[in-house]
Amino acid sequence: MSEPTTIPTYQWPPSNEVLAERLGLRPQDIVRFDGNTPAQPPASARPGTVARALADVNEYDRGRYETLRQAIADQHGVALEQVSLGAGSDEFIVLLTALFASGGTVATVPSDSYSMYRYAAAMAGATMTDDVAKADVVFVCRPNNPTGELPEIPTAIRGQLILDEAYAQYAGIDGTCYVAEGAVVLRTFSKAYGLAGARVGYALATRETTALIHSRQSPLSVSSLSAALALAAIRQPLDVSAQVAERERVAAALGDLGLDPRPSWTNFLFIPMENAQSYVDRLLPYGIVLRAYQAGLRISIRDDLDNDRLLDALRCELLGTPMPTAYQRHERATAETRLTCRLRLAGEGRVYVNTGEGFYDHMLQQLAFHGGMDLRMEGVGDLETGDHHLVEDVFRTFGEALDEALAKRVGLARYGESRVPMDEALAHAVVDLSGRAKATLDISPDPGMAAHALESLAQTARITLHVTAKGENAHHVAEACFKAVGRAMRQALQRTGGEVASTKGSL
Ligand code: PMP
Repeated sequence: MSEPTTIPTYQWPPSNEVLAERLGLRPQDIVRFDGNTPAQPPASARPGTVARALADVNEYDRGRYETLRQAIADQHGVALEQVSLGAGSDEFIVLLTALFASGGTVATVPSDSYSMYRYAAAMAGATMTDDVAKADVVFVCRPNNPTGELPEIPTAIRGQLILDEAYAQYAGIDGTCYVAEGAVVLRTFSKAYGLAGARVGYALATRETTALIHSRQSPLSVSSLSAALALAAIRQPLDVSAQVAERERVAAALGDLGLDPRPSWTNFLFIPMENAQSYVDRLLPYGIVLRAYQAGLRISIRDDLDNDRLLDALRCELLGTPMPTAYQRHERATAETRLTCRLRLAGEGRVYVNTGEGFYDHMLQQLAFHGGMDLRMEGVGDLETGDHHLVEDVFRTFGEALDEALAKRVGLARYGESRVPMDEALAHAVVDLSGRAKATLDISPDPGMAAHALESLAQTARITLHVTAKGENAHHVAEACFKAVGRAMRQALQRTGGEVASTKGSL
């Protein structure tokens, strides 16, 4: 027996916390374009989804998550006995290399591909080869990371063919048809499904190969909470068309900047260049993290707001255009809700609120729009117990983001007042960005949560709010209220100069 030694292996880039510390930013200001993960978790990833698994977390799942494996089997038209689960598809890359190439050879198609194949080969005591025809294991990365291309599947091979389809959904492909010929297909919940942190991947193979995999795997490497998240995600229809359209928009904008991304079949773009690291270094101070390779720069596609920030930073660096004010990012996660808020006070009324509680989403949208803000509030809540928790948390999240955005409350008009009618209803709102949390509200009739929502806002944003609203129709009354508060806020938020609007010199 020889002593084990360390070998070169996968290196994670620094975490958000480490980068933030180094750059003098807050961890939430770091935007990762280096992980090929979507900007948001799926709507199905909410506290209620894992509640059942939590109730049984003291138990093992004796069937290796049969319900999840059956859902996967149904999706690909294979039998349950052809599906194995792992902690990410990385687990299978390591396991299959050890299984089929121990002490042998590994080839990848294309040759410039995902680094884990190389590390898995090293772990298995195998060597990398360019000779695809003779290799013991051939990984075909379809579509390929990092180049984004869709390589042809080689036909003349004698080793084990592994089709890594981590990004298949973006390309609209499915290699399950090759399983009958002996190929193993690897898939992951980390990319299109937005569950990278849950660590769930799966392998599709013949019954014999699946039995072989199960015999060499630890008995249960996926947690029950992760399996619940994966099951909820796979039960929802997956639509990546918006991501694909966004990728093309970003590609065109990069083209306008003189950069030339290759056609991509994935959720990232690859720009061939020699000095990719210099782009990484130049964008890091903006909190933007890109990934440099020897052959080029890889940029993950996030959502439009994040991508715009990247494009703005690139314009700033390459053309010298001024950098627009950043969105204030704020996240809130409780036992009932998970919300992400991005807010820019001096905005253009670009407002999008989607938390699943249509009416109050609409109310917050009105407030932000009439307040002249840019706001993106996304997330989900467990509505099984009614809308109370979600509405409260939405307005608390918005209030916290507002409080952060107001910072020291310097140079603002401070006071604002507005009267807004809505048919027979009339609302009157007075706001003071005082730093003191106080809400005096007389809203009648209240559709249910209007007063509570405004109270939550006043508390968390530390503002004083006086609102009177009367009418016959509760919907009209609420709408007038939120618009009036928005209009009053717009006045209070007016920039006046450098000073604090108080004789005391501070708020
Ligand atoms: N294959 C490819 C091509 C990848 O890019 C990745 C993630 N970077 C993986 C597999 C592994 O993904 P996970 O382990 O999260 O399933």
